[in-house]
Amino acid sequence: MSVAHRVLVVGAGGLGSPVLRLLAPSGVEHITIVDDDVVDESNLHRQTLYKDRDVGQSKIEQAVRVLRELSPKLSVRAVEGRFVPGTAMDLLSEHTLVVEGADNLATKFLVADAARLAGVPAVQAGAVRWAGWAFCALPDSACLRCLFEDIPRDRVDTCAEAGVVGPVVGVLGGLEAALVCRLLQGERPGGELWHYDALKGALRKTFVRRRSDCPLCAGEIQDLRMERYTAACAA
Ligand SMILES: [Zn+2]
Repeated sequence: MSVAHRVLVVGAGGLGSPVLRLLAPSGVEHITIVDDDVVDESNLHRQTLYKDRDVGQSKIEQAVRVLRELSPKLSVRAVEGRFVPGTAMDLLSEHTLVVEGADNLATKFLVADAARLAGVPAVQAGAVRWAGWAFCALPDSACLRCLFEDIPRDRVDTCAEAGVVGPVVGVLGGLEAALVCRLLQGERPGGELWHYDALKGALRKTFVRRRSDCPLCAGEIQDLRMERYTAACAA
């Protein structure tokens, strides 16, 4: 794999932990991590970058420390704060691709929109309880809005509220990392959607096609105005 790749990772929680652990020694040149949270005892079962002694500490500081131990030559940058419209485009313009592991749908749609507008690939995932999905969008493939249309205006379960089983986010974070490695090796897995259900014992891949009425693919979304990302489910 080329060493010139710069990867932006949004979220250093349950999905971000395996993504970061797997990508740090994979040969990427640089990783930027965006997160605004502190380590919470209730999350330790699924956020495998952190230990008991990290509780109450900044996640991003601990994540950077772990990555430097794992891969001393890796360039790592910490951006402490939420991934927000005001800085999204600048961040994306500095990176080869973005991997998202946020725990709320508003951030997932913001990442999808910003990646498309910046013309960079986005690898995204989500999980609740025993199941989840991982998806890869390229500038010319289906996007997250082709898959989910828009942020639901009614109440939606998130990891933080509904709970998620640690090994489930481990699998999905691993699938995200595998999609990233494939992208960095020149493959084009755009539109691939991976479903994993731990209770049914099922892992399957489907292909999402562009929806003709998708506002992002049709070019109707041209900016990142904040009101698009302030649904009730945004935690
Ligand atoms: Zn679309």
